[in-house]
Amino acid sequence: MSFDSLGLKAELLSAVQAQGYTTPTPVQAKTIPVILEGRDVLAGAQTGTGKTAAFTLPMLQLLSAGEQGGARGRAPRALVLTPTRELAAQVADSVRTYGKNLRLHSAVVFGGVGINPQIDQLRRGIDILVATPGRLLDHAGQGTVNLSKVEILVLDEADRMLDMGFIHDIKRILRLLPAKRQNLLFSATYNDEIKRLADGLLQNPEMVEVARRNTAAETVSQVVHPVGQTKKRELLAHLIKEGDWQQALVFTRTKHGANRLATQLLKDGINSTAIHGNKSQAARTKALADFKKGAVRILVATDIAARGLDIDSLPHVVNFDLPNVPEDYVHRIGRTGRAGASGMALSLVASEERDLLRNIQKLLGRNIEVQEIPGFKNEPSFSTDSAPSFRQDRKPQGQGRKPGFASARPARRFEKKDRNYQR
Ligand code: AMP
Repeated sequence: MSFDSLGLKAELLSAVQAQGYTTPTPVQAKTIPVILEGRDVLAGAQTGTGKTAAFTLPMLQLLSAGEQGGARGRAPRALVLTPTRELAAQVADSVRTYGKNLRLHSAVVFGGVGINPQIDQLRRGIDILVATPGRLLDHAGQGTVNLSKVEILVLDEADRMLDMGFIHDIKRILRLLPAKRQNLLFSATYNDEIKRLADGLLQNPEMVEVARRNTAAETVSQVVHPVGQTKKRELLAHLIKEGDWQQALVFTRTKHGANRLATQLLKDGINSTAIHGNKSQAARTKALADFKKGAVRILVATDIAARGLDIDSLPHVVNFDLPNVPEDYVHRIGRTGRAGASGMALSLVASEERDLLRNIQKLLGRNIEVQEIPGFKNEPSFSTDSAPSFRQDRKPQGQGRKPGFASARPARRFEKKDRNYQR
């Protein structure tokens, strides 16, 4: 998946490229084409998922189809509401960054600073206004902003706006907007309040949800089974049979390992198939279809192959080999326990993988429970204790994080050219 395929115009693609982004993040890949169609969107995406570009890029494109260039007194055609001034400033930065090759004008208004420079800016005429609700209402009350030309409304971090008690302000703002407009609602969480807001606001919305970063690490039951490398296959077959598993996704590090394991499981009488980059697209599609309809019990995959897999939720995910990159662990186990379903992630860990496990535990900020299965025990010295040292060396990673990350875990932000998002 590349940015080129999303339908964005060259001016925006070059701005994206200038940022060093090579691949759209999942929320971008899902929402940009839908927004470009003019549809309303309800997107479940937290900070760090690339959500800002997900609404900013298509918004800029839609606006650029209209008249461009400064015209004094022009009323905004897009309004982005954010809960805090920090977020407003960040969104405004993104609007400027991604829109640098377009002739659209933007302004940001929030409280706690002088209102007059904002009034001057609004008077000069803008296309996009980023605002916090309170200050926007101040402007509306003074007649220094005209909201009657808004074509696109974005509520960013809507859940936080509700938590901060902005619902009445939002309702007042909505009354100032034209009835016919496109509405985009972004929220990290989904609850009854958000649903009520969405129901009243959105028309036939496209629902987009992306896995929360590291959430799976918090909600999925995780366990480590220490086992010798050569006994892993036997242990896996044992677990599948004893637990009477319906279906599982099993990860191996190599394509060869995936093939070999699927073949061996077949010999054990367990219907399995492998999916990896060496297989033709047709073979992969068939393997996935067979798995989805339940004809195949165990799907063995490499990380790369699993990235494109559209599997909603699985009861079991197994790390037959631990991944070399700790973040891949979080992606892998995110395949289970989705949407509140209970999920189980099991890792078969040989003593030579202890360092990999340690790194994963550092990323998670805690140790994973170790369960020895009688008959498959590893040597007694197996120790996975690594979280305490993590707490000391976590500090540098924690810096620069915005408030609002609920988790105490290191919520990694997307990095430019982040390999985990090159799907
Ligand atoms: P956000 O979720 O909007 O706060 O974005 C999180 C971070 O991801 C920001 O620093 C963006 O610059 C960065 N980002 C957004 N889209 C991408 C992408 N496609 N590839 C890499 N980084 C990105």
